[in-house]
Amino acid sequence: MDLFHDNPMFSAVRQMLGAFAKQSMRPIAMKHDTEESMPWELMKSAQGFGLTQTSVLDGRKKLTGVEDDPDPKKPKTQIRLSVVGSEELAFGCAGISLALAGSGLAASPVARMGTAEQKDEFRKLMAGLDDKGHIKVAAMALSEPATGSDISGLTTTARPDGDHWIIRGSKQWIKNGQSAAVYVVWAQTDDAAGRAGVRGFIVGRETPGLVPGRKETKLGIRASETAQVHFEDVRVHEDMMLGIGGSTGTGAGGLADTKKMLDGTRPAVGAQAVGI
Ligand SMILES: Cc1cc2nc3c(=O)[nH]c(=O)nc-3n(C[C@H](O)[C@H](O)[C@H](O)COP(=O)(O)OP(=O)(O)OC[C@H]3O[C@@H](n4cnc5c(N)ncnc54)[C@H](O)[C@@H]3O)c2cc1C
Repeated sequence: MDLFHDNPMFSAVRQMLGAFAKQSMRPIAMKHDTEESMPWELMKSAQGFGLTQTSVLDGRKKLTGVEDDPDPKKPKTQIRLSVVGSEELAFGCAGISLALAGSGLAASPVARMGTAEQKDEFRKLMAGLDDKGHIKVAAMALSEPATGSDISGLTTTARPDGDHWIIRGSKQWIKNGQSAAVYVVWAQTDDAAGRAGVRGFIVGRETPGLVPGRKETKLGIRASETAQVHFEDVRVHEDMMLGIGGSTGTGAGGLADTKKMLDGTRPAVGAQAVGI
C-alpha cells in the first residue's frame, strides 16, 4: 500500500510545508538553537495556514472539510498527513518543528477519548494568548525520572477524594513542560489494578499544586522546551478524567490508552528523523 502518495492533498502539503521550512524556519533555526528559545512569533504566524496547536483536536474535517477514511484497517489520513508534514518541517529545524507540533501529543488522547465537555475545556484553556503574549501550548506528561520506555513502571498516583482526584508525582522530559497552559497527565488510579488502573487527566496550568520544574539543557532539538513537571497533590474534578465514555463511546483502556496515543503520534517522530 502506498501510504504517502495516493492522495493529491499530500503533495500539496509537502510543497507548502517544504517552502515554509526553507523560507521561514531555516533562517531562524541557528538563533533559536543557540539561545535554546521557543520560536513564539513563528508559532503564532504558522496558525495562519492551519498549523495550530489544537489542529489534532480539530481533526481532518476542520483542516480539509472532509471526514477521515471510513476504512478502519487503513492508517488515518490525519496520521499520514502528520508524517508527510513532519518530514518537511524537520528539514527546516528539528527543534522548531517540535515546537510547532508538540501540543498535538496532548491533544491526541483528548481527541480520541475526550467527552464533548473535555474537548471544550481543552479548547478553552488553549484559547487566546498567555501573560507573555505567546500563543498557548499544551503538554503531555507520561515519562517519569525512572520510567521512560517501560511506562508500566509509572509511579505518579491519582487517589479519589469525593468527586475529585488528587494527583501526586513528578514527570520528566515533558515538551512545553514550563510553558503549557494545559497538561494531559497519566497516573495510576488503582495499584491493585496494575496496567488497567492507569488514566489520563486534563489539568489546567493554574491548578494549585501543579509546579513546572527545571528546564533541561539538551544537545539537540533545543528550540523545543523540555522540562520537569511536579504534581503536588493536584485536585482535578472527575469530569476531567479521560475515558469516561467520550463522544466516541471509547472507554478507558488503562496503559493501553497511552500506547494508542503513541501509536498515533510516533510515526511523525520517525518522519522527523528522515527530514533531518
Ligand atoms: C526531546 C524529548 C522530548 C520528550 N517529550 C516528552 C513528552 O512531551 N512527554 C513525555 O511523557 N515524554 C517525553 N519524552 C520522554 C521520552 O518519551 C523518553 O525519553 C523515552 O520514552 C525513552 O525513555 P528514557 O529516556 O528513560 O530511555 P530508556 O527507557 O532508559 O532507554 C534507554 C535506552 O535503552 C533502550 N531500551 C529501553 N528498554 C529496552 C529493552 N527492554 N530492551 C532493549 N533496549 C531497551 C532504549 O531503546 C534506549 O536506547 C521526551 C524525550 C525527549 C528526549
